[in-house]
Amino acid sequence: MSSQPEPEVHVAGQQSPSGTPEGVDGGTRCDGDPGGCGCEDGGRYGGGGADGGKGGGGRPRRGGPGAGSAGGSGDGSGDRPGGGPSGPGERGRLRSAAAACTSLMALVATSLVAGPAVAKDAVSPCALPRTSAHHSLGLDTWNPAYPRPVRALDAVMVFLSFPDAEPHHTPERLAADHFPATSGFFERSSYGRFSLRPHPLRRWVEMPKESTAYGISRDWDAERRGSYLRDAFAAADAAVDFSRYDIVYLVADPDAPGVDSDATKVVNFDRPPRVDGVGIRRVVTVFERHPPDRNVLAHETGHVFDLPDLYHRPVDGRGDWDTHVGDWDVMGSQFGMAPDLFGWHKWKLGWLDGRAVRCVTGPELITLEPIAAPAPGGGLGTRLAVVRTGPGSALAVEARGAVGNDDGLCTEGVLIYRVRSDAASGSGPVEVVDTHPGSEACWDRSVYPELADAPLGVGETVTLAEERVRVEVTDRTPSGAWTVRIRSADDTPR
Ligand SMILES: [Zn+2]
Repeated sequence: MSSQPEPEVHVAGQQSPSGTPEGVDGGTRCDGDPGGCGCEDGGRYGGGGADGGKGGGGRPRRGGPGAGSAGGSGDGSGDRPGGGPSGPGERGRLRSAAAACTSLMALVATSLVAGPAVAKDAVSPCALPRTSAHHSLGLDTWNPAYPRPVRALDAVMVFLSFPDAEPHHTPERLAADHFPATSGFFERSSYGRFSLRPHPLRRWVEMPKESTAYGISRDWDAERRGSYLRDAFAAADAAVDFSRYDIVYLVADPDAPGVDSDATKVVNFDRPPRVDGVGIRRVVTVFERHPPDRNVLAHETGHVFDLPDLYHRPVDGRGDWDTHVGDWDVMGSQFGMAPDLFGWHKWKLGWLDGRAVRCVTGPELITLEPIAAPAPGGGLGTRLAVVRTGPGSALAVEARGAVGNDDGLCTEGVLIYRVRSDAASGSGPVEVVDTHPGSEACWDRSVYPELADAPLGVGETVTLAEERVRVEVTDRTPSGAWTVRIRSADDTPR
């Protein structure tokens, strides 16, 4: 089934139907884009979705039973030898936990000894600085160009029909493709701190031109995309008071002939068009089929909150998209088995506060509650442990259990990942550490089986040679939390 999580794009100078473009938004500005569209975040062909035909074969396998092995050889991705699981070492992997990286500096050894104390209310020393990278994962400050989802936000859904097609479905039915599922995802992920309130229009808004006139596609021509957006705002203006909403979803008739489900994306305006007296900074343009990709709107909406793409777009479009984070965050794949947002993302968004995040500056024994577990009564416990490893880098440690949004995950345990705040969206801001580099799991369901068993289990220890950090899972509590010892690899002889 189709459609990649969008390549986000920036559009400069979209004229509003009735107003003048505002100034450039420095917070989301991206340079160097001919035609006014910069910052293609590297849309993927389906996140390993079931539709192998999408994107001219660029979409990697998976999505349905058997797709893992069958698709591996069939999609030409090259990183998954066909026919089934293969032995370790045949493919390029993430830097593995067990890799013999002996020449790297012991950054953490220093911080573990001399790191600053944790200040509860001040910015944590583990909060990486936000950089100019698109959707930087630095979180010492919030980019004010984006709404922060720490309150209820209102989203309007505008359903666009075209003169060349009679819609097969009602707006109500298409709204039900995404809601309440998407609201539920965020409600759970945020521990109830954020409510996404959808306001779907009850009727179709007809565009002035035929669907085929706009050239809708994944790598959309900027001028024709601009035409689409101008027409959409003009057509919807009478029916929608845009000043009432924080988020705009423009949902195209999925059955119109010119609609391409791979074109679903977030469009950021360098100069927000003014409609109903407000500048609209970005819109989510939805071209999903009916039914759509699971969790696709959660992924897109994540961009509205300044979250980056975590997948890796192969240069030639034919490699594997999921090498960086596999199933472990919806910003990596909307098809992921464990789609809850990383603890780092939740920290950035404000759903984890300083009490739930432990900045590790010395040897510590920490009890980590599963990141996706609810927090009845509001008590989160500790959800995320962070070791600062450099000016713009950190190691994050969190527990992933089969609960909440992660209900369908493959392997429970303690997940470790590297975060870089200077890496732009789609350029690997997060890399999951595979603590079992010699094995794979859940071939039938995982978007990237190599990382499906990435977590560390009880009784296991991993030494991260690059960072000189050792993580040991010592126990699991009766309530389902994991007890983790984090220390410098140099503290004890090997
Ligand atoms: Zn995306």
